[in-house]
Amino acid sequence: MDWNSPVKFVKGVGERRARALEQAGITTLGELIYHVPRRYLDRSTISPINQLSVGAEATVVGRVTGAKMVRGKRRPYFQLVLTDDTGFLTCRWFNGAQWLTDRFTKDDVVAVSGKVDFYGGLQISHPDFDILSDDKTNPINTGMIMPLYPSTQALQSVGLDSRGFRRVLKPLMSNLKELVPDPLPENVLRDYRLLPRYAALEQAHFPDSPEHLEAGRDRLKFDELFFMQLLLALRSSAVVQKTKRNRYEQPGDILDSQYKLLPYDLTGAQKRVVREIWNDLKSPHPMNRLLQGDVGSGKTVVSLLSAAIAAGNGFQTALMAPTEILAEQHYQNAVKFFEGTQIRPVLLTGSNTPAQKKEIYKALKSGYYHLAVGTHALIQGKVEFKNLQLVIIDEQHRFGVVQRGDLIEKAADADVLVMTATPIPRTLSMTIYGDLSVSILDEMPKNRQPIITRRVDVAKLRAVYDFVRQEIQAGRQAFVVYPLIEESEKIDLEAATKGFDYLSKQVFPEFKLALLHGRMTSAEKDVVMASFAKNETQILVSTTVIEVGIDYPNATVMVIENAERFGLTQLHQLRGRIGRGKHRSVCVLVQRKPNPESTHRLEIMVKTSDGFKIAEEDLKIRGTGDLFGTRQHGLPNLKLADLVTDADILRAARKAAFEVVDDDPQLRKSQHTGLRQVVLTEFNDLLGFAKIG
Ligand code: ADP
Ligand code: MG
Repeated sequence: MDWNSPVKFVKGVGERRARALEQAGITTLGELIYHVPRRYLDRSTISPINQLSVGAEATVVGRVTGAKMVRGKRRPYFQLVLTDDTGFLTCRWFNGAQWLTDRFTKDDVVAVSGKVDFYGGLQISHPDFDILSDDKTNPINTGMIMPLYPSTQALQSVGLDSRGFRRVLKPLMSNLKELVPDPLPENVLRDYRLLPRYAALEQAHFPDSPEHLEAGRDRLKFDELFFMQLLLALRSSAVVQKTKRNRYEQPGDILDSQYKLLPYDLTGAQKRVVREIWNDLKSPHPMNRLLQGDVGSGKTVVSLLSAAIAAGNGFQTALMAPTEILAEQHYQNAVKFFEGTQIRPVLLTGSNTPAQKKEIYKALKSGYYHLAVGTHALIQGKVEFKNLQLVIIDEQHRFGVVQRGDLIEKAADADVLVMTATPIPRTLSMTIYGDLSVSILDEMPKNRQPIITRRVDVAKLRAVYDFVRQEIQAGRQAFVVYPLIEESEKIDLEAATKGFDYLSKQVFPEFKLALLHGRMTSAEKDVVMASFAKNETQILVSTTVIEVGIDYPNATVMVIENAERFGLTQLHQLRGRIGRGKHRSVCVLVQRKPNPESTHRLEIMVKTSDGFKIAEEDLKIRGTGDLFGTRQHGLPNLKLADLVTDADILRAARKAAFEVVDDDPQLRKSQHTGLRQVVLTEFNDLLGFAKIG
């Protein structure tokens, strides 16, 4: 028997169980041993029935005093009654519950958990349950910590419920040390004070104490995070190992001259970041850098200064934005920025005519244009450059990771700068951007006044509109934003269109309003944006298309309708469209359907304007969940570790993994054989361009 032996040879498994296990993804002894408990029962986690509170999640252990199908008024259901020393609890299963009828016997001791509610008595619907056989295994009586295993109906039907798993796994524990290989090098185990892998698994299955359990699970979490970081370290070192054909000589006179012409002083943070970028550019290896800066921190000028360095050295730059509106705006900025120089920018988007595109392609290939600004049309197959050396991606979070990957492949040995305003908590950026070096713009331009944020209900709308009127009379401008009501652009549009009609006819007949939404052609959008830029339009009514990037310093009011429908980070992005100039700005969050949950969220917006804090809160509320599904970012899934609660382990694992790759980029040293093997067998498909030979 070894780690890779088929699971059917494990004592107590056999053909039938092996088939059920295989369906659940468990085919080898090793995978069986890695089937670790989902929960643990001990005195501290079990609630006496008379202390249950309605609405809370709870675990109860009781004796079966009733178990039967009940006809029910509308449909039949299965009903289980559990009794402990303090009272009784009813559990009900409604759909397809027939299979439960022969599972419970009177006097069985059963653990159930789920959300407690009240229907003529305390009840839990569709609880998780585990039959603990008899009193001798009841953790209340024995003081033990009892593991509960993830199971499925198929597994349960072959007796692999928690009890079944315990019985199969227990005998394996005696020679776990021989069975479990430990891929981590000695020095990592020592430096990071990790339990040996076999001991960690032992404690995860049959803990001696809460402390040992935690140490065991921590080691297993460390492993998950370590291998994820190892992949990132390998990717990042693969980029560093490339050598650029083009070499930068000096920052160049274009940088010098355009820097002097800026209408403001750069913030300390902007200066620092430009230096960091220059250091990367002049290095013989390609830059692979993330620039994070809260909304309004001035990323655009940093990107243009970088393009000026490239141009000064005779290289082309591509600047990509996620929307046409934003690409257009960047292009206008670039034209202004390079005025009076030899540098020629060009705008390339999906709405160029085929003839225009052909012209532009030709001119990019000949090197006539030095800076190409555009949407993702820029990286589509046909575009060729003469000597593209710098690629900048604005609002990177709007592009998929896959697109970033494509681009990096396409860019070959180009320097890549990705910019994002989505403040990502450090723990997340260490994962989804974990292969990039990071620069942070952590300082706002000096001319800014804080944005005042208010949460109001509909009763206050009149006062809000009066306020908007005053601001406009004082020369300012306003945004009114309508939410995405469903994942359907049509309805989204309807809310904005209705709002637009109402506001322009009933509320603000004396002003000029315009409507902006994602379905307009870019020519139509251009007209709207241009008239807003010139203050010919005072109020821009819009869907969330204005969410990213756009910059109108004269706009000082934003009214967000149905604010409770937005996520916190999205509200923060929207709010970032105001407060960009010297005037005081106000953001009004209209809460149409007040409830404690949305009030709590919106109050976070009222209290802070710090994007990083908001992101942390958002993460706490929503969890990392599907939002940052690691697999979609080309990283292994996490089963035990949690990026929010296990941040310390993540940091340690990252440090350890990068140390290993620094020391041995191809994992060739003998002490890294174990690591190499795991990477090649388990993560080969995720290595991407980071080949280990
Ligand atoms: P973001 O980081 O959100 O992309 P932008 O680059 O759009 O921010 O900059 C926001 C506004 O701040 C722009 O109007 C820009 O001209 C201005 N700005 C940028 N840097 C400075 C600075 N150092 N001092 C004053 N204003 C600045
Ligand atoms: Mg921007």
